Amino acid sequence: MVPKRCTYLALLVTPAIALAGCEQNPVTGRSQLILISDEQATEMGAQAYQQILSQSQKGTAAQQQRIEQIGRRIVQAAGAPATKESWTFNVIRDDTPNAFALPGGKVGVHTGMLDAVASDDQLAAVIAHEIAHVTARHSAERLSRQALTQAGVGAAGAGLNSPTGAQLLAQAAQLGLILPFSRGQESEADRLGMRYMAQAGYDPRAAVQVWEKFAAAGGDRQPEFLSTHPHSSSRAKELQEYVDEVMPIYRKNARGK
Ligand SMILES: [Zn+2]
Repeated sequence: MVPKRCTYLALLVTPAIALAGCEQNPVTGRSQLILISDEQATEMGAQAYQQILSQSQKGTAAQQQRIEQIGRRIVQAAGAPATKESWTFNVIRDDTPNAFALPGGKVGVHTGMLDAVASDDQLAAVIAHEIAHVTARHSAERLSRQALTQAGVGAAGAGLNSPTGAQLLAQAAQLGLILPFSRGQESEADRLGMRYMAQAGYDPRAAVQVWEKFAAAGGDRQPEFLSTHPHSSSRAKELQEYVDEVMPIYRKNARGK
């Protein structure tokens, strides 16, 4: 059965897309409007990632090893649905405190983020949040909505299978990097990310610390991470609720650390 909320949204567009575009996310169980296939999203992610890496300098071997170790441990703890991605972690030499993840499991962490976090647990909070955006397929969802709203329904529908459509989507992937996630997607990545942390034996309370730190550093010069990951006043309260949810999982897994 096609879940209701997604159907209504897609029916505004066209019944054909409603049938093709509504999928239940295997990780979150939520119904999503997805107009591009996993293969297309993965391809777009890989392309954009290559472009970013070719235009930037790498971090030191020690920095690289640190994020690899944390990233792999979280991915492993995240379990089966997440492991179909081909996960790649890279440190990018850039002073802005930022991190991102592209479809297909391509993760980038700026050296500025490594400087900004106070512990491995805090870094794990950032990486787990990014991994959760991938496993919950937020980029594909965001690009699908964007294709509908910007390109117009006819153009998007017809363009998806043509080279022009592929080019449009590649551009959108670039745009997708700098467009903020929605509030709902942020909540989902927070909750899922904290669960992954707890399963991997990282202290989920570090996620609260990290977001408070970024929010406090706000004002006129908003840290880059917040510009793509909007923080709201209700988020702090939600984060605390998620911590309470996953602390038993953390306590169980932390013992073996
Ligand atoms: Zn986010």
